[in-house]
Amino acid sequence: MSVRGLQRKQSKLWSFAIAGLAVCWWLQPPRLLQVLPVLLLLLLAVLMMALPVGRMSTRPVRFGGAVVLFTTLLYGAVVGSVVGLVAGWLARWVRRDRNDVLLYAPAVVLSAQVSGVLYHHAVPSAGSPLFTWQGWLFVILCAVLFSVGRIVLLWWSDSGHRSSLRQVARAEGIVDGVTLPAIVAVLSVHRQWGWLSVPLFAVLGTTALLAARALIEAHLARRQIRTLQAMHRRLIAHLSPDDLLQDLGTELRRLLLFDRLSLWSYARQEAHLQIIGVYPQDERSAFPAYLQMEGVLGRAVDSAKPMVFTDELRRRCPDLAEVFDGHLFILPLVVHRYLWGLLVLERRAHREPFIMADYQTIQVLVEHLAILLENLRLYRQTMDLAVRDGLTGLLNHRRLHERLKEELSRSLRYHHPMTLLMVDVDYFKRYNDTYGHQQGDEVLRTVAEILRQNVRQSDIVGRYGGEEFMIILPETTKSAAVALAQRLCEIVANTPFPGYPGGAPVRCTISIGVAGYPEDGLTASDLVAAADAALYRAKRFGRNRVVVAP
Ligand code: GH3
Ligand code: MG
Ligand code: MG
Repeated sequence: MSVRGLQRKQSKLWSFAIAGLAVCWWLQPPRLLQVLPVLLLLLLAVLMMALPVGRMSTRPVRFGGAVVLFTTLLYGAVVGSVVGLVAGWLARWVRRDRNDVLLYAPAVVLSAQVSGVLYHHAVPSAGSPLFTWQGWLFVILCAVLFSVGRIVLLWWSDSGHRSSLRQVARAEGIVDGVTLPAIVAVLSVHRQWGWLSVPLFAVLGTTALLAARALIEAHLARRQIRTLQAMHRRLIAHLSPDDLLQDLGTELRRLLLFDRLSLWSYARQEAHLQIIGVYPQDERSAFPAYLQMEGVLGRAVDSAKPMVFTDELRRRCPDLAEVFDGHLFILPLVVHRYLWGLLVLERRAHREPFIMADYQTIQVLVEHLAILLENLRLYRQTMDLAVRDGLTGLLNHRRLHERLKEELSRSLRYHHPMTLLMVDVDYFKRYNDTYGHQQGDEVLRTVAEILRQNVRQSDIVGRYGGEEFMIILPETTKSAAVALAQRLCEIVANTPFPGYPGGAPVRCTISIGVAGYPEDGLTASDLVAAADAALYRAKRFGRNRVVVAP
């Protein structure tokens, strides 16, 4: 929802609440009332609206509504409405940028008006419930009416914020659940206690508030555990940082309000940040170019501490402020003093800014994510060492054979052709003996790069042995493979290789043997033997050429 949409909803709610106030005045004009207790209730309402007792499913949990309901039941809908509206207006100044107070206050007042009018219609005398079970039931009915009305109004006013009706109901239900007993108890003794019932309500309300806090914390802990479980499951299932991010995003949204989440990995040597993923995934294309290393993220990398993008920071990074008017929360992912990267949360401009207290909500998850990502990195590194050749970075002999078997069984199943190329560098021993082994290594690296660059993504290139390479070409006929092999030979032959230091470049060539499935062999070893035999003939015929089996 845009800022304007939000303001439209706010002004709609406020006009309805003020109109409701006039109707209430007409239906039940206020009687003489005690000024001091009402002022106390107003003070209480301001505090309870300005300071949420916590957050539940990203929604602030406020006790302001309970104070308004209590005032309404005690002193009538008019007094209750005035207290609610004035408190809402004042609470906004206690905490600036609190747009949601301006939605909350009129929603609360509107629903309190309905219950208030009903209640005082049935209990016209002293605003105290009838001391019968029907009287009690009636108070509870009014409270339920108030609750339902408020939840629906808050959900409607919040529809752009992605809170579901259930989330709103859960956050507001906590308040109703813990304050209703206090309201019923105080109303029951109001006739005897007089104005003292207001301080009594304050005391009972505080107890209820503590209970609500405990419930919210328990809820948060449950959510955190759920998120950790989800992340672990995903780690075992997929082993990808982006998958982890998607799971984290879904779960984190239940804990903290944000519009977009991005994960960045940090390469220390190059001092470079790279984006790994964005949640939700479709937001990636809209990602603005602001998040550059030298900008605000660079500061986060340097400090390695959680950082809220405040107005002050905005002034210090004018280039960023130009393209981004929302709120940022930057969380470094640190494991054993090693900075894995950053997690960046964003909110649009019309929302409340992030506060450092938000960090407590997600700290456990962020720390855990850092450990998981670091483990993932180490795991991948180890896997790479196990399957890749150290000199060229190509698949090693063992992995090549595994892949060959996999591709063969696939070809067998789908009746697809497959071709195998065996590549050998010509007179490589002579090159080594003449220019040294380090130069020889360089030739192997270059040839490996040429092979990798000139095959398709689905083709498999590996280092078979010393200066021998193997290329598996799935779903490729022998004739197509021969064309490719000839091109490879040409490219290598035309590539200048280093000779003596400062001297002219030298020529190096390769020979290639080609064997196809199924015509030259049905098993891996038959195919390799056929390709090898073809390669041997290529050598015998003078090298720098392609020979096809049989
Ligand atoms: P041919 O044209 O018949 O293939 O002759 P060749 O000299 O290339 O073949 P040979 O098998 O006699 O020599 C292969 C050489 O490759 C022997 C070895 O010193 C060299 N070699 C194997 N592995 C490496 C390596 O990792 N680095 C370097 N620099 N040389 C290697
Ligand atoms: Mg050779
Ligand atoms: Mg050889």
